[in-house]
Amino acid sequence: MAEKMNHIERTMASLAGEPIDRMLVYPLAMGVLRRLVPGYDGKLSYKDWSENPKLFAQAFIEGQKYFDFDLAIGLMDLSVGAADFGAKVRMDDQNTPFVTDAAWDTVEGYETLEVPDITKGRSGVLIEGTQIFCGALKDEAVCTGFLEGPLLTLTQCAHAEKVFMDMNTSPSAIHKALKVITDYNCDMVTAMNKNRLSAGLAWDLLWGNYACLGDKEYGEFEGNDKYLGRVIKATNDSGQAYIVHNCSDLPHLQTQTNTFHPVVNSMAWYPLIAGSPSPTDVIKQGYADKCLIAGVIETQGFIRWSKEKMEKTTMNLIQEVKTAMCERGLKSTYAISSGCEIPPTFTTKMENIGAVVEMTKKYGQIPC
Ligand SMILES: [Zn+2]
Repeated sequence: MAEKMNHIERTMASLAGEPIDRMLVYPLAMGVLRRLVPGYDGKLSYKDWSENPKLFAQAFIEGQKYFDFDLAIGLMDLSVGAADFGAKVRMDDQNTPFVTDAAWDTVEGYETLEVPDITKGRSGVLIEGTQIFCGALKDEAVCTGFLEGPLLTLTQCAHAEKVFMDMNTSPSAIHKALKVITDYNCDMVTAMNKNRLSAGLAWDLLWGNYACLGDKEYGEFEGNDKYLGRVIKATNDSGQAYIVHNCSDLPHLQTQTNTFHPVVNSMAWYPLIAGSPSPTDVIKQGYADKCLIAGVIETQGFIRWSKEKMEKTTMNLIQEVKTAMCERGLKSTYAISSGCEIPPTFTTKMENIGAVVEMTKKYGQIPC
Protein backbone atom coordinates (compact mmCIF):
# COMPACT_ATOMS: atom_id res chain seq x y z
CA MET A 1 0.00 0.00 0.00
CA ALA A 2 1.24 3.47 -0.85
CA GLU A 3 1.74 6.47 1.46
CA LYS A 4 -1.12 8.92 1.74
CA MET A 5 -1.76 10.48 -1.67
CA ASN A 6 -3.57 13.58 -2.85
CA HIS A 7 -6.45 13.32 -5.34
CA ILE A 8 -4.31 13.84 -8.42
CA GLU A 9 -1.58 11.40 -7.34
CA ARG A 10 -4.20 8.78 -6.50
CA THR A 11 -5.97 9.21 -9.84
CA MET A 12 -2.78 9.03 -11.88
CA ALA A 13 -1.57 5.94 -9.98
CA SER A 14 -4.96 4.23 -10.42
CA LEU A 15 -4.97 4.91 -14.15
CA ALA A 16 -1.49 3.39 -14.37
CA GLY A 17 -2.48 0.35 -12.27
CA GLU A 18 0.08 1.26 -9.61
CA PRO A 19 -0.34 0.89 -5.82
CA ILE A 20 -2.60 3.45 -4.15
CA ASP A 21 -3.34 4.46 -0.57
CA ARG A 22 -7.05 3.77 -1.16
CA MET A 23 -9.46 3.30 -4.04
CA LEU A 24 -10.68 6.26 -6.06
CA VAL A 25 -14.14 7.58 -5.23
CA TYR A 26 -16.42 9.68 -7.37
CA PRO A 27 -20.17 9.11 -7.16
CA LEU A 28 -21.48 10.77 -10.33
CA ALA A 29 -22.77 13.96 -8.70
CA MET A 30 -23.18 16.68 -11.31
CA GLY A 31 -26.46 18.61 -11.66
CA VAL A 32 -27.29 17.95 -8.01
CA LEU A 33 -24.24 20.01 -7.00
CA ARG A 34 -26.04 23.19 -8.10
CA ARG A 35 -27.81 22.99 -4.72
CA LEU A 36 -24.47 24.03 -3.19
CA VAL A 37 -24.04 27.23 -5.23
CA PRO A 38 -24.14 30.12 -2.73
CA GLY A 39 -26.84 32.77 -2.89
CA TYR A 40 -29.75 30.57 -4.01
CA ASP A 41 -30.71 28.94 -0.75
CA GLY A 42 -30.21 25.52 -2.38
CA LYS A 43 -32.83 26.31 -5.03
CA LEU A 44 -30.85 27.31 -8.11
CA SER A 45 -33.08 26.10 -10.96
CA TYR A 46 -31.84 23.59 -13.50
CA LYS A 47 -32.56 26.07 -16.31
CA ASP A 48 -30.52 28.88 -14.75
CA TRP A 49 -27.69 26.48 -13.96
CA SER A 50 -27.54 24.98 -17.45
CA GLU A 51 -27.72 28.31 -19.26
CA ASN A 52 -24.98 30.12 -17.36
CA PRO A 53 -21.38 28.88 -17.63
CA LYS A 54 -20.32 30.52 -14.37
CA LEU A 55 -23.12 28.86 -12.40
CA PHE A 56 -22.50 25.54 -14.16
CA ALA A 57 -18.83 25.70 -13.17
CA GLN A 58 -19.52 26.95 -9.66
CA ALA A 59 -21.53 23.83 -8.87
CA PHE A 60 -18.48 21.61 -9.52
CA ILE A 61 -16.21 23.94 -7.58
CA GLU A 62 -18.58 23.93 -4.58
CA GLY A 63 -19.10 20.17 -4.90
CA GLN A 64 -15.37 19.57 -4.68
CA LYS A 65 -15.13 21.76 -1.57
CA TYR A 66 -18.09 20.07 0.10
CA PHE A 67 -17.48 16.40 -0.75
CA ASP A 68 -13.71 16.20 -1.42
CA PHE A 69 -14.04 13.93 -4.49
CA ASP A 70 -11.07 12.45 -6.32
CA LEU A 71 -12.36 13.59 -9.73
CA ALA A 72 -14.73 16.03 -11.34
CA ILE A 73 -16.62 15.13 -14.53
CA GLY A 74 -18.57 17.95 -16.14
CA LEU A 75 -21.81 16.34 -17.30
CA MET A 76 -24.64 18.80 -17.91
CA ASP A 77 -27.32 16.41 -19.23
CA LEU A 78 -28.03 14.48 -22.42
CA SER A 79 -30.04 17.13 -24.25
CA VAL A 80 -27.30 19.72 -24.83
CA GLY A 81 -26.46 18.75 -28.41
CA ALA A 82 -30.08 17.90 -29.28
CA ALA A 83 -31.31 21.31 -28.11
CA ASP A 84 -28.78 23.07 -30.29
CA PHE A 85 -29.75 20.91 -33.27
CA GLY A 86 -33.33 22.16 -32.78
CA ALA A 87 -35.09 19.63 -30.52
CA LYS A 88 -37.52 21.08 -27.98
CA VAL A 89 -36.39 20.40 -24.43
CA ARG A 90 -38.63 20.49 -21.38
CA MET A 91 -36.74 22.14 -18.57
CA ASP A 92 -38.21 21.46 -15.13
CA ASP A 93 -37.01 23.57 -12.24
CA GLN A 94 -35.44 20.76 -10.27
CA ASN A 95 -35.03 17.75 -12.52
CA THR A 96 -33.17 16.45 -15.55
CA PRO A 97 -34.42 18.11 -18.74
CA PHE A 98 -35.71 15.92 -21.54
CA VAL A 99 -36.62 16.21 -25.19
CA THR A 100 -40.35 16.60 -25.86
CA ASP A 101 -40.37 17.43 -29.58
CA ALA A 102 -37.91 15.97 -32.05
CA ALA A 103 -35.79 18.36 -34.09
CA TRP A 104 -37.27 16.79 -37.26
CA ASP A 105 -39.69 14.03 -38.12
CA THR A 106 -39.09 13.40 -41.82
CA VAL A 107 -36.32 11.59 -43.67
CA GLU A 108 -35.32 14.94 -45.20
CA GLY A 109 -34.64 16.13 -41.67
CA TYR A 110 -31.67 13.77 -41.38
CA GLU A 111 -30.40 14.77 -44.79
CA THR A 112 -30.45 18.53 -44.33
CA LEU A 113 -28.91 18.68 -40.87
CA GLU A 114 -26.23 21.32 -40.28
CA VAL A 115 -23.71 21.78 -37.49
CA PRO A 116 -25.07 24.43 -35.09
CA ASP A 117 -22.98 27.38 -33.91
CA ILE A 118 -21.25 25.82 -30.90
CA THR A 119 -20.46 29.17 -29.34
CA LYS A 120 -24.19 29.69 -28.78
CA GLY A 121 -26.86 27.68 -26.95
CA ARG A 122 -26.04 25.18 -24.25
CA SER A 123 -23.08 23.84 -26.26
CA GLY A 124 -21.47 27.24 -25.71
CA VAL A 125 -22.32 27.12 -21.99
CA LEU A 126 -20.79 23.66 -21.71
CA ILE A 127 -17.59 24.72 -23.50
CA GLU A 128 -17.11 27.77 -21.32
CA GLY A 129 -18.30 26.18 -18.07
CA THR A 130 -16.04 23.15 -18.50
CA GLN A 131 -13.02 25.38 -18.98
CA ILE A 132 -13.90 27.44 -15.92
CA PHE A 133 -14.25 24.56 -13.48
CA CYS A 134 -11.31 22.60 -14.93
CA GLY A 135 -9.19 25.73 -14.52
CA ALA A 136 -10.38 26.37 -10.97
CA LEU A 137 -9.79 22.80 -9.80
CA LYS A 138 -6.68 21.99 -11.82
CA ASP A 139 -4.33 21.78 -8.85
CA GLU A 140 -6.76 19.78 -6.74
CA ALA A 141 -8.45 17.05 -8.74
CA VAL A 142 -8.39 15.55 -12.21
CA CYS A 143 -11.17 17.23 -14.23
CA THR A 144 -12.82 16.13 -17.44
CA GLY A 145 -15.61 17.17 -19.76
CA PHE A 146 -18.60 15.06 -20.80
CA LEU A 147 -20.35 14.72 -24.18
CA GLU A 148 -23.01 12.52 -25.77
CA GLY A 149 -21.69 10.11 -28.39
CA PRO A 150 -22.81 10.50 -32.03
CA LEU A 151 -25.63 7.95 -31.96
CA LEU A 152 -26.98 9.15 -28.62
CA THR A 153 -26.97 12.74 -29.87
CA LEU A 154 -28.95 11.56 -32.89
CA THR A 155 -31.56 9.65 -30.86
CA GLN A 156 -31.90 12.64 -28.54
CA CYS A 157 -32.57 14.84 -31.60
CA ALA A 158 -35.06 12.57 -33.31
CA HIS A 159 -36.38 10.09 -30.69
CA ALA A 160 -34.76 6.69 -30.28
CA GLU A 161 -37.67 4.52 -31.47
CA LYS A 162 -37.98 6.46 -34.69
CA VAL A 163 -34.23 6.44 -35.35
CA PHE A 164 -34.07 2.67 -34.83
CA MET A 165 -36.92 2.19 -37.33
CA ASP A 166 -35.35 4.56 -39.83
CA MET A 167 -32.08 2.61 -39.61
CA ASN A 168 -33.90 -0.16 -41.47
CA THR A 169 -35.84 1.91 -43.97
CA SER A 170 -33.54 4.89 -44.65
CA PRO A 171 -30.01 3.98 -43.57
CA SER A 172 -28.29 6.42 -45.92
CA ALA A 173 -30.22 9.34 -44.38
CA ILE A 174 -29.15 8.22 -40.91
CA HIS A 175 -25.54 8.10 -42.07
CA LYS A 176 -25.78 11.64 -43.44
CA ALA A 177 -27.02 12.87 -40.05
CA LEU A 178 -24.36 10.92 -38.14
CA LYS A 179 -21.64 12.47 -40.27
CA VAL A 180 -22.85 15.98 -39.37
CA ILE A 181 -23.27 15.09 -35.69
CA THR A 182 -19.74 13.66 -35.63
CA ASP A 183 -18.47 16.94 -37.12
CA TYR A 184 -20.29 18.75 -34.30
CA ASN A 185 -18.84 16.36 -31.68
CA CYS A 186 -15.31 16.91 -32.99
CA ASP A 187 -15.76 20.70 -32.93
CA MET A 188 -16.95 20.43 -29.32
CA VAL A 189 -13.93 18.32 -28.32
CA THR A 190 -11.47 20.90 -29.59
CA ALA A 191 -13.35 23.88 -28.16
CA MET A 192 -13.78 22.28 -24.73
CA ASN A 193 -10.05 21.86 -24.34
CA LYS A 194 -8.69 24.89 -26.14
CA ASN A 195 -6.92 25.97 -22.94
CA ARG A 196 -5.68 22.43 -22.19
CA LEU A 197 -7.35 22.33 -18.78
CA SER A 198 -9.50 19.21 -19.21
CA ALA A 199 -7.56 15.98 -18.66
CA GLY A 200 -10.13 13.73 -20.24
CA LEU A 201 -13.43 13.57 -22.02
CA ALA A 202 -16.21 11.17 -21.05
CA TRP A 203 -18.49 9.98 -23.87
CA ASP A 204 -21.95 8.62 -23.24
CA LEU A 205 -22.28 5.58 -25.51
CA LEU A 206 -25.63 4.35 -24.29
CA TRP A 207 -26.50 2.41 -27.45
CA GLY A 208 -23.54 0.07 -27.20
CA ASN A 209 -26.06 -2.18 -25.49
CA TYR A 210 -27.01 -5.69 -26.59
CA ALA A 211 -30.57 -5.07 -25.39
CA CYS A 212 -30.92 -2.56 -28.27
CA LEU A 213 -28.27 -3.20 -30.93
CA GLY A 214 -26.10 -6.18 -31.83
CA ASP A 215 -22.44 -5.85 -32.78
CA LYS A 216 -23.22 -5.52 -36.48
CA GLU A 217 -25.77 -2.70 -36.11
CA TYR A 218 -23.73 -0.89 -33.49
CA GLY A 219 -20.67 -1.21 -35.70
CA GLU A 220 -22.56 0.25 -38.62
CA PHE A 221 -24.10 3.20 -36.78
CA GLU A 222 -21.51 4.23 -34.19
CA GLY A 223 -18.68 1.83 -33.37
CA ASN A 224 -16.59 2.44 -36.48
CA ASP A 225 -13.82 4.73 -37.74
CA LYS A 226 -16.24 7.21 -39.31
CA TYR A 227 -18.04 8.09 -36.09
CA LEU A 228 -16.72 6.82 -32.75
CA GLY A 229 -13.20 6.40 -34.11
CA ARG A 230 -13.18 10.01 -35.27
CA VAL A 231 -14.39 11.42 -31.95
CA ILE A 232 -11.81 9.33 -30.08
CA LYS A 233 -9.04 10.58 -32.34
CA ALA A 234 -10.22 14.18 -31.84
CA THR A 235 -10.33 13.55 -28.07
CA ASN A 236 -6.77 12.21 -27.98
CA ASP A 237 -5.48 14.86 -30.41
CA SER A 238 -6.89 17.57 -28.13
CA GLY A 239 -4.84 16.20 -25.23
CA GLN A 240 -7.78 14.56 -23.43
CA ALA A 241 -7.96 10.93 -22.37
CA TYR A 242 -10.86 8.94 -23.79
CA ILE A 243 -13.43 7.82 -21.19
CA VAL A 244 -16.61 5.79 -21.74
CA HIS A 245 -19.81 6.08 -19.77
CA ASN A 246 -22.33 3.38 -20.61
CA CYS A 247 -25.00 2.70 -18.01
CA SER A 248 -26.93 0.22 -20.14
CA ASP A 249 -27.87 -3.23 -18.85
CA LEU A 250 -25.88 -5.26 -21.41
CA PRO A 251 -22.94 -3.08 -22.48
CA HIS A 252 -20.70 -3.95 -25.43
CA LEU A 253 -17.81 -4.29 -23.02
CA GLN A 254 -15.55 -6.20 -25.33
CA THR A 255 -15.84 -3.82 -28.28
CA GLN A 256 -15.68 -0.78 -26.06
CA THR A 257 -12.57 -1.99 -24.28
CA ASN A 258 -10.62 -4.03 -26.80
CA THR A 259 -11.34 -2.05 -29.96
CA PHE A 260 -11.55 1.51 -28.70
CA HIS A 261 -9.24 1.48 -25.64
CA PRO A 262 -10.77 3.88 -23.12
CA VAL A 263 -8.74 4.79 -20.02
CA VAL A 264 -11.90 4.63 -17.89
CA ASN A 265 -15.10 2.65 -18.34
CA SER A 266 -17.93 3.98 -16.16
CA MET A 267 -20.74 1.46 -15.93
CA ALA A 268 -23.89 0.33 -14.14
CA TRP A 269 -25.07 -3.09 -13.03
CA TYR A 270 -28.61 -4.49 -13.19
CA PRO A 271 -28.66 -7.54 -10.89
CA LEU A 272 -32.15 -8.56 -12.02
CA ILE A 273 -31.20 -8.72 -15.70
CA ALA A 274 -29.56 -11.97 -16.77
CA GLY A 275 -26.14 -11.36 -18.25
CA SER A 276 -25.72 -7.84 -16.86
CA PRO A 277 -22.06 -7.87 -15.75
CA SER A 278 -21.39 -7.36 -12.03
CA PRO A 279 -18.17 -5.75 -10.79
CA THR A 280 -16.82 -9.24 -10.05
CA ASP A 281 -17.65 -10.41 -13.60
CA VAL A 282 -16.01 -7.36 -15.16
CA ILE A 283 -12.83 -7.76 -13.11
CA LYS A 284 -12.67 -11.55 -13.60
CA GLN A 285 -13.10 -11.16 -17.36
CA GLY A 286 -9.98 -9.01 -17.44
CA TYR A 287 -11.47 -5.60 -18.20
CA ALA A 288 -9.89 -3.96 -15.13
CA ASP A 289 -6.52 -5.18 -16.48
CA LYS A 290 -7.02 -2.89 -19.45
CA CYS A 291 -8.70 0.24 -18.08
CA LEU A 292 -10.05 1.72 -14.88
CA ILE A 293 -13.57 0.49 -14.16
CA ALA A 294 -16.01 2.77 -12.31
CA GLY A 295 -19.39 1.87 -10.83
CA VAL A 296 -21.95 0.63 -9.82
CA ILE A 297 -24.07 1.96 -6.92
CA GLU A 298 -27.73 2.23 -7.87
CA THR A 299 -28.63 5.89 -8.42
CA GLN A 300 -32.13 5.62 -6.94
CA GLY A 301 -30.46 4.69 -3.66
CA PHE A 302 -29.33 8.30 -3.32
CA ILE A 303 -33.01 9.25 -3.02
CA ARG A 304 -34.56 6.22 -1.35
CA TRP A 305 -32.01 4.72 0.99
CA SER A 306 -31.10 5.72 4.50
CA LYS A 307 -27.52 6.82 5.10
CA GLU A 308 -26.92 3.50 6.87
CA LYS A 309 -28.09 1.55 3.84
CA MET A 310 -25.84 3.63 1.56
CA GLU A 311 -22.91 3.00 3.90
CA LYS A 312 -23.59 -0.73 3.89
CA THR A 313 -23.98 -0.85 0.10
CA THR A 314 -20.70 1.02 -0.36
CA MET A 315 -18.95 -1.31 2.10
CA ASN A 316 -20.25 -4.36 0.25
CA LEU A 317 -19.11 -2.97 -3.10
CA ILE A 318 -15.65 -2.16 -1.71
CA GLN A 319 -15.39 -5.68 -0.32
CA GLU A 320 -16.52 -7.29 -3.56
CA VAL A 321 -14.09 -5.22 -5.64
CA LYS A 322 -11.16 -5.87 -3.27
CA THR A 323 -11.72 -9.62 -3.39
CA ALA A 324 -11.92 -9.74 -7.17
CA MET A 325 -8.97 -7.35 -7.65
CA CYS A 326 -6.72 -9.30 -5.27
CA GLU A 327 -7.57 -12.58 -7.00
CA ARG A 328 -6.44 -11.03 -10.23
CA GLY A 329 -3.35 -9.35 -8.80
CA LEU A 330 -4.65 -5.84 -9.49
CA LYS A 331 -3.73 -2.94 -7.25
CA SER A 332 -5.90 0.02 -8.14
CA THR A 333 -7.97 -0.04 -11.34
CA TYR A 334 -11.45 0.44 -9.87
CA ALA A 335 -13.25 3.61 -8.77
CA ILE A 336 -16.14 3.44 -6.31
CA SER A 337 -18.90 5.30 -8.12
CA SER A 338 -22.57 5.29 -8.99
CA GLY A 339 -23.87 3.47 -12.06
CA CYS A 340 -25.14 6.68 -13.61
CA GLU A 341 -25.69 10.31 -12.69
CA ILE A 342 -27.12 10.84 -9.21
CA PRO A 343 -30.60 12.33 -9.75
CA PRO A 344 -30.25 16.13 -9.80
CA THR A 345 -33.43 16.60 -7.77
CA PHE A 346 -34.39 18.05 -4.40
CA THR A 347 -35.15 14.56 -3.13
CA THR A 348 -31.55 13.32 -3.49
CA LYS A 349 -29.99 13.03 -0.04
CA MET A 350 -26.70 14.89 -0.04
CA GLU A 351 -25.64 12.88 3.02
CA ASN A 352 -25.78 9.71 0.92
CA ILE A 353 -23.25 11.17 -1.51
CA GLY A 354 -21.01 12.02 1.45
CA ALA A 355 -21.47 8.49 2.82
CA VAL A 356 -19.97 6.92 -0.32
CA VAL A 357 -16.92 9.20 -0.10
CA GLU A 358 -16.41 8.65 3.62
CA MET A 359 -16.76 4.86 3.43
CA THR A 360 -14.23 4.65 0.60
CA LYS A 361 -11.78 6.85 2.51
CA LYS A 362 -12.13 4.63 5.55
CA TYR A 363 -12.25 1.18 4.00
CA GLY A 364 -10.96 1.56 0.41
CA GLN A 365 -7.42 0.25 0.97
CA ILE A 366 -6.48 -2.81 -1.07
CA PRO A 367 -4.10 -4.81 1.13
CA CYS A 368 -3.74 -8.00 -0.93
ZN1 LIG B 1 -25.75 6.99 -17.44
